[in-house]
Amino acid sequence: MPYIAVKGTRDIIGEEADAFSEVEQVFKAVAELYGYKEFRTPVLEYTEVFDRSAGDSSDVVRKEMYTFMDKGNRSVTMRPEFTAGMARSIVEKKLYATEDLPIKCFYYGPAFRYERPQLGRYRQFVQAGVECVGVDSARYDAECIVMAMHVLGVLGFENLSVKVNTLGDAESRAKYKEALKAYFSEHIDKMCPDCHDRLELNPMRILDCKVPEDQEIVKGAPKMKDYLSEASDKRFYQTLSIINDMGIKFEIDENLVRGLDYYGEIVFEVHAKSATGADYGALVGGGHYDGMLKTFGGPDYSGVGFAFGVDRIVSLMKDNGLLGKKEGKCDIYVMPLGEEVIDEAFAIAMNLRYEGYKVEIPFTGGKIGGMFKKATRKGAKFALIIGEDELNNGVAQLKNMETQEQRAISLEDLDLEIESAFNPAPEGNGCCGGESCCCGGEGGQEGCCCSQKEEKEGK
Ligand code: AMP
Repeated sequence: MPYIAVKGTRDIIGEEADAFSEVEQVFKAVAELYGYKEFRTPVLEYTEVFDRSAGDSSDVVRKEMYTFMDKGNRSVTMRPEFTAGMARSIVEKKLYATEDLPIKCFYYGPAFRYERPQLGRYRQFVQAGVECVGVDSARYDAECIVMAMHVLGVLGFENLSVKVNTLGDAESRAKYKEALKAYFSEHIDKMCPDCHDRLELNPMRILDCKVPEDQEIVKGAPKMKDYLSEASDKRFYQTLSIINDMGIKFEIDENLVRGLDYYGEIVFEVHAKSATGADYGALVGGGHYDGMLKTFGGPDYSGVGFAFGVDRIVSLMKDNGLLGKKEGKCDIYVMPLGEEVIDEAFAIAMNLRYEGYKVEIPFTGGKIGGMFKKATRKGAKFALIIGEDELNNGVAQLKNMETQEQRAISLEDLDLEIESAFNPAPEGNGCCGGESCCCGGEGGQEGCCCSQKEEKEGK
């Protein structure tokens, strides 16, 4: 068998990996603005954690979990989502007794589902999300949606489509499921095999069946709004009114049920159009849930959360030209001319790295022409050429790769020389030329960085 990545998994390399880091950084920065703190829960959980919380009727739990017996004969599962593990952690650590409520936690990391791999759907994928647990309020539900949109806004997404629905409280859902069961029982012989199972396990799942013939039948199904309790109805419209006031446009999608059983009251998804026309599905999905902590032996607190599909976000950012241009990968390409000078050149390169410059040095040496080609390919701004004669004279040659100007610089003043090479002084006035130099470009004022530089240079 050839050595290839496991089906549904992939290697994320270079610029694509940079894009994942960019999303992670933006996500974390925004989560902190809203008072969330990071939780890093294990990839492996005991299987009951997901069985009990995510639900018997969810495809994720029934068909898609990576579950196996460990060597101690315990059934463990690689997390297919984070909410259950976060709730398990909050209860296990009894955080509800020590932390202010609501407990606001965020996460970022890989999740695993044995799904049919396709565009925007992998078996290992990255989720970034939040949970806000312990206060039951339409305002927190709204804040959660606003926050998801905030992250997408900072990442540069526009024209997002937000879909919302309410699954009501437990009582409303029970009545609605009964009505759906009665309706779908009349049509079930024309429906797909999965819907046969859904009818028994949870007829609400039939609402988001993707089979076109089944979707036609779904059109005539009873609507949740006719079974919604007054309290759930009020709560739904309160949340919608808050997000509306925050300028978020949304549409109500009565068939939006989400794939995990724990949701109740408001659920939402955000979709975005790709410039290439590709459809990656929902970028983010989430909603309100009740009873999750109780499932694990904690208090009967409700929560609200969302999860971003980071792989899908990165694909869309790539398609829509939203990826930040990374700065060059190399500032200085150090060129040792011969085996004899490699150790000293390495010491110089390390010095520059400690100063914060991105430095490449080929330990294999080679011809200077070849090194210049590599420096160009790496996008180096300067080449620092170090030969035996230069070293004996305490100098090196610094070549500006763009202007091709080359001059000898003193190794003793290397830091200063390099700094002024990167921030050249404008001709004539002696200013260091830094964009926000304190002398405002006048040059040489007392206490200003220009004069400090002059002092250092012994002028
Ligand atoms: P869920 O945990 O099912 O509510 O999904 C939340 C988000 O995770 C979705 O909106 C997707 O963006 C992403 N997601 C879920 N499953 C996958 C998958 N198999 N591959 C890539 N992204 C996924």
